[in-house]
Amino acid sequence: MRKFTSSGWWALQAAALLAIAAAPAVAQDLLQLQRDPNQWVLPGKDYSLTRYSELNQINASNVKNLKVAWTFSTGTLNGLEGAPLVLNNTMYFVTSFPNIVYALDLTKEGAPIKWLYKPTQEPTVAGVACCDLVNRGVAYADGKIFFNQLDATTVALDANTGQVVWQVKQGDPKKGQTITGAPLVIKDKVITGISGGEFGVRGFVTANDIRDGHQIWRMYSTGPDAEVGIGPEYKPFYKEYKAKDLGVTTWTGDQWKLGGGTTWGWYSYDPELNLFYYGSGNPGTWNPDQRPGDNKWSMSIWARNPDNGQVRWVYQMTPHDAWDYDGVNEMILVDQVIDGKPRKTLVHFDRNGFAYTLDRATGEVLVAQPYGPVNWAKGIDLKTGRPIENPEKRTKQGQNTTDICPSAMGFKDQQPASYNPKTKLFYVPTNNLCMEYEGVEVSYTAGVPYVGAIVKTVPGPGGHRGALIAWDATTGRKVWANNEKWSAWSGTLSTAGDVVFYGTMDGWFKAVSPTTGQELWKFRTGAGIIGAPMTYIGPDGKQYVAILAGVGGWSGATVSLDLPPDDPTAALGAVNAFKDLTKEVAKSGMLFVFSLP
Ligand code: CA
Repeated sequence: MRKFTSSGWWALQAAALLAIAAAPAVAQDLLQLQRDPNQWVLPGKDYSLTRYSELNQINASNVKNLKVAWTFSTGTLNGLEGAPLVLNNTMYFVTSFPNIVYALDLTKEGAPIKWLYKPTQEPTVAGVACCDLVNRGVAYADGKIFFNQLDATTVALDANTGQVVWQVKQGDPKKGQTITGAPLVIKDKVITGISGGEFGVRGFVTANDIRDGHQIWRMYSTGPDAEVGIGPEYKPFYKEYKAKDLGVTTWTGDQWKLGGGTTWGWYSYDPELNLFYYGSGNPGTWNPDQRPGDNKWSMSIWARNPDNGQVRWVYQMTPHDAWDYDGVNEMILVDQVIDGKPRKTLVHFDRNGFAYTLDRATGEVLVAQPYGPVNWAKGIDLKTGRPIENPEKRTKQGQNTTDICPSAMGFKDQQPASYNPKTKLFYVPTNNLCMEYEGVEVSYTAGVPYVGAIVKTVPGPGGHRGALIAWDATTGRKVWANNEKWSAWSGTLSTAGDVVFYGTMDGWFKAVSPTTGQELWKFRTGAGIIGAPMTYIGPDGKQYVAILAGVGGWSGATVSLDLPPDDPTAALGAVNAFKDLTKEVAKSGMLFVFSLP
């Protein structure tokens, strides 16, 4: 009997050890795959979100010959954000609502459907999505495809068959909780955020086990330290961040429960530091006078330990936000020399108009410079990390503050930038938009918009609504800019072939020189582009470039949601800046794949 128990215990212990050993093996798989230039296995190419490809078959001298290889209609008509993945000669992507996941077989002519998965979601969920019905992509690991449905369900599908392996509910759309972001897999966990910043949702980030979906941890953006994950591992850079429970004390009363920092943007990861990075969005409501205080930790950059969710450091870019400058834009992780010293940096182009270069190990701000004509703040005080505000542009309840730059949509929204290690420059798709903004008193009802502001967006100085810019993040300097009629509301892709790809809202897909911005090639897809380009090697050994084209999102909602052009405050003020987009493109959902003849 005793012997039996003992062998039983050994068997259990061996099983436990095997389980522990299995976890890093999964991460290793993804770590290897992302280094393969022929495949594209993470939304941003790699954990660092560089969106840089080593491929060079398509290059600056031959890109002018690029032709459509094949196309695919997604069967949807809302905005298409994000990029497809390619692995094992299969292309995977997810559409806008109802979030159809397609696997296309690249080994066959014309890339026919290998499988598709169409989830069943309550149609009412569409009513609580803030800014069109978008989705930013799928993730791969361990033979599974992971994605988030708009109704806040995370799903794992068998990558070979499309069969559901597991699904878990992360939130309740009846309370305005939705998900639009792409998941990120780290080791044995799938990390997801939550959307709903315009519905009084309290932001959180969740880790679920990739094998069976069970929740491993969940940490909040606001509230007591224990719920935020501020504990023994917390080493903030700035002294003022050391006080206890700032996620409660920097708010008035219970306001921290009503929307603080939703987490709907991109996620990056540094395997050596074992930290993952993301940003949190606006405090609820948009009316600042209803929530005196810094409103921590909305509008912040986070560094967390993926194993337990604990915070290493956090940095709040926009204390007491009065402009909806969500801090969710991507954190790109590259090593750079700053003031003669090599640094592990994190580069972030914020909605508030400043481009930040931080030390990603410590959270110290090294460089913070405007990448457009900012006027709400004169700069960032590097000693404290706080913005030096212009009191004239701080918005108030019952008063229309005009000519604020940037607009709530930021000089950049979620459309992701790329980094090229050859030029050491970032290629940043930007908006040139300013706004007027008036705070209005609003009371909270679950599942009802909790915005509390009337906003009108207008084109910025010069009248063009956007530009692709090249940025030196070691000095905080713009190297070149290509002005665009519309916001450059697509991601960018940079390659070893010395080409930068991006798309425009009026449907042009372009290739430009990384050193000068000179246009090398363009093709009108006829469908407005807000997705992100990617590249891969097909089974025939040729390089392909793919882009999802389907206008929508916040900027293109005037087209995708048929919003009335005569209401300038519709779509949280976006209609005023984009009402004439209906003259250039119509609703569509298309995938375009290009190659050399
Ligand atoms: Ca927001």
